[in-house]
Amino acid sequence: MTGFETHVMDRMMGWFAPRSALGFVVRLLFLISIVLASNIMFAITVDEYHAHPLTYYFAHAVIVGGPLIAFFLAVCTFQVRLQRKLWRLSRKDPLTGLNNRRTFLDSCETTHAKNSTGVLMMLDADFFKKVNDTYGHQVGDKCLQTIAYVLKRNIRQGDILGRIGGEEFAIYLKKISIQQAKVIGERLTKPIAFQSEDNGHLTITLSIGAVFSYPDATMDQLFAQADKALYRAKIGGRARMIIWDHSFETGGSTASA
Ligand code: GH3
Ligand code: MG
Ligand code: MG
Repeated sequence: MTGFETHVMDRMMGWFAPRSALGFVVRLLFLISIVLASNIMFAITVDEYHAHPLTYYFAHAVIVGGPLIAFFLAVCTFQVRLQRKLWRLSRKDPLTGLNNRRTFLDSCETTHAKNSTGVLMMLDADFFKKVNDTYGHQVGDKCLQTIAYVLKRNIRQGDILGRIGGEEFAIYLKKISIQQAKVIGERLTKPIAFQSEDNGHLTITLSIGAVFSYPDATMDQLFAQADKALYRAKIGGRARMIIWDHSFETGGSTASA
């Protein structure tokens, strides 16, 4: 649907939706008068006594039923388009097209409830504020879109990916060993190039906190652990992945990828 068609449909639905009992009656009478007009048109155009019965009934269906069927199809189209739009708005991040925070968490909960193992990664763009401050918010947005594209390309079908905050992303890699996750983490911590019209090629890196998702843990625990690992990746110099282990809770040394 073009923008113009969408606009026309929006206006039409706005007009047709009654907002009171009186509005309902007025619209009902209006629609009945359309049916009446089509019946009169039918009576004028089709000769009842000379037309073949098949032609007669077909013409009746087209002239009287046609406008109503067309109206019904237009309402269905509008309804489906609206539903899709609302679904996208409630589940997707508009800037990157990735799952939003809530959708990501819901999908992780569902997967985790099936007792499956995997690796949860929290990824945060390094010194992202500097990109905004130096090159502007639009370039920052472009950078986030490029990160989303790179993440999408580096996960498998079935893995869960989302943008969970401003410059924070998360991935749930299903049924994967920590060794395999390290390979992916290594790829994702390499500088990511993105384009700025006025400044040419720029790069950004990601810091990653990861945790092996074991069935006994709750999703909240896993997020808290991945967050701790991410914090260590940040203070450890950024552009690296740190994997959570039990020593984190006792204040021991960091485990790194
Ligand atoms: P660190 O390496 O410690 O993560 O530093 P940082 O600069 O990446 O982190 P900080 O939290 O200081 O800054 C994050 C910035 O992200 C601040 C905020 O304005 C920006 N931001 C959040 N959402 C968006 C967005 O949708 N678009 C753009 N362009 N910027 C955003
Ligand atoms: Mg952040
Ligand atoms: Mg950051």
